Amino acid sequence: MDTKEMLQKGSQQLGVILNEEQINQFFKYYELLVSWNEKMNLTAITEEKEVIIKHFLDCLTVAKEFDFAPSTHLIDIGTGAGFPGLPLKIAYPHLEITLVDSLQKRIRFLETVTEELGLMQVQCIHGRAEELGQSPVYREQYDLCVSRAVAHLSVLYEYTLPFIAQGGYFLALKGPDVVQELAESEKALGLLGGKHIQTSTLSLPYSDITHSIVRIKKDRQTPTQYPRKAGIPSKKPIV
Ligand code: SAM
Repeated sequence: MDTKEMLQKGSQQLGVILNEEQINQFFKYYELLVSWNEKMNLTAITEEKEVIIKHFLDCLTVAKEFDFAPSTHLIDIGTGAGFPGLPLKIAYPHLEITLVDSLQKRIRFLETVTEELGLMQVQCIHGRAEELGQSPVYREQYDLCVSRAVAHLSVLYEYTLPFIAQGGYFLALKGPDVVQELAESEKALGLLGGKHIQTSTLSLPYSDITHSIVRIKKDRQTPTQYPRKAGIPSKKPIV
């Protein structure tokens, strides 16, 4: 199977139908990722099929569990090279997205991808979640927050929940085993205004990799003292 078919069929399995323009956007993204990766550290995975499976399709697994149609404003915390925010924007062009990362170089890459792919309504913000989460420009302004491979849930809730408006959702893309992490982060979740809705296990197409998607609903406001100052959530997680 060629890589185009792989992306098209793989995304279909996840409930995402990509048109020709969207397929081309993914391949353009791949080219930029690999060429910029020679100058800066963006990804350890560079082989085309692997990027399609372990980055692009991996980021789209959430589509199997979550209906993106009603969502409007999405924020991706610790997006790195744009995961999962950019694949979701390509798949769901109606989303207005904000990509956040604390590394300036990665933001320059994301701005280039956004421009080259002709994506509209994408904001790339350099900053730490702890600082942006205290700014009225971003705080409780999003109906959906996503994050992959950034921190333990007890820390991640403090990074992400402040951005979500009441009634909105947080989707954490996690590895196969999150039972212990969920238990260890219960206190942080309650304190920060979140409620656990569901954890689903999903398999990644063309692989034997399984994932957990943790779905959280923001049902109360986050107390103003959170997030704490930069570095504190990871040094002293709420336990
Ligand atoms: N989400 C991407 C992925 O799945 O490929 C990147 C994961 S990478 C392991 C973690 C990213 O989170 C890095 O790009 C790092 O700069 C960013 N990051 C870590 N702590 C952060 C914070 N407090 N605020 C904003 N970004 C943060």
